[in-house]
Amino acid sequence: MAEKRDYYEVLEVPKTATAEEIKKAYRKKAIQYHPDKNPGNKEAEEKFKEAAEAYEVLSDPQKRQRYDQYGFAGVGGAGGFGGQGMDLNDIFSQFGDLFESWGMGGSFFGGGSGRGGSTRRVRRGSDLRVKVRLTLEEIATGTEKKIKVKKLIACDHCHGTGSEDGTTDTCSTCRGTGRILKTQRGIFGLVQMQEICPSCQGEGKTIKNRCKECGGNGVKQGEEVISIQIPAGVMDGMQLTVQGKGNAAPHGGVPGDLLVLIEEEPHAELVRDEGDLIYNLLLSVPTATLGGQVEIPTLQGKAKVTIAPGTQPGKVLRMRGKGLPVIDQYGRQYATGDLLINVGVYIPEHLSKEEKEMMEKFAQSENSKPGKSDKKNFFKDLFK
Ligand SMILES: [Zn+2]
Ligand SMILES: [Zn+2]
Repeated sequence: MAEKRDYYEVLEVPKTATAEEIKKAYRKKAIQYHPDKNPGNKEAEEKFKEAAEAYEVLSDPQKRQRYDQYGFAGVGGAGGFGGQGMDLNDIFSQFGDLFESWGMGGSFFGGGSGRGGSTRRVRRGSDLRVKVRLTLEEIATGTEKKIKVKKLIACDHCHGTGSEDGTTDTCSTCRGTGRILKTQRGIFGLVQMQEICPSCQGEGKTIKNRCKECGGNGVKQGEEVISIQIPAGVMDGMQLTVQGKGNAAPHGGVPGDLLVLIEEEPHAELVRDEGDLIYNLLLSVPTATLGGQVEIPTLQGKAKVTIAPGTQPGKVLRMRGKGLPVIDQYGRQYATGDLLINVGVYIPEHLSKEEKEMMEKFAQSENSKPGKSDKKNFFKDLFK
């Protein structure tokens, strides 16, 4: 696939363009590349989609700000969580009203003639929610999870059409437009209002011979094994969106999304503090005094750490880069955390007669007592 073009470049507007200028620019492109005007022209279709995607982002002040700040990743583009461009169904279901007000047919997806400025409704399936439980080891590297989801799937008997013999009829109530005109009495007399056709729910079609398997809905209960790409660095409570993997929609509409809630499994020895990991290390008096080597659990396995002679309790040792990837809300990594080792020193509570004698002997020695500067440094380090 060709590299994505900057949205401002696509619509040929400056970065400072107003909402009105953006709408105007989009209108120009949409008319130029509309599928009704360029039947079978793949390149025009791509340009049409590209413009719609650009407009979708730049017409929404929040999305536009995120795009200005973070680029495509800020709006679920390449490298973001969602990742896919728009298809024609998305465009017409989202901007159908806009096309109508511009006098263009938005009925491309209806499979019909694409004339007359009618906007048939594409039904969208509902979103599904699942939880995924991850260990810190999985979060450190990112992972792929395959989960079996019970959901509405397209009926294979009728291929989602809901029709036993594959045929549908044009709805007689709305004559296929999906809308009906209703006359209402308003303050200035009679007004005509457009409403979704109640006979066909706006689809413009009715089914005479309903599918025996799904009763004409085009969907049925089923299950699907869905593989979910989990980026490294996710946190408990985050939600990922897998587009189009929710419930199927009746009569071949647009499927909903699968929303994945991240749950973090507590680690046996390490505590997470965003990108950092914390390990509490308790040293014996001799090791803290004489120094030595200790084993530290990390997410990449055991690591040997050298303890310097005279290591004081309260000291924090830092293993750089041994924490977790730190990501922004769009899944982009911008830092890596550290593993922090909190050092404590275990003072024995119960001593034998012999051990007491050793301690008393040690107490006689000159270096067992803190000097003035030792005291000052100790508390300075401890409470910094
Ligand atoms: Zn069926
Ligand atoms: Zn109808």
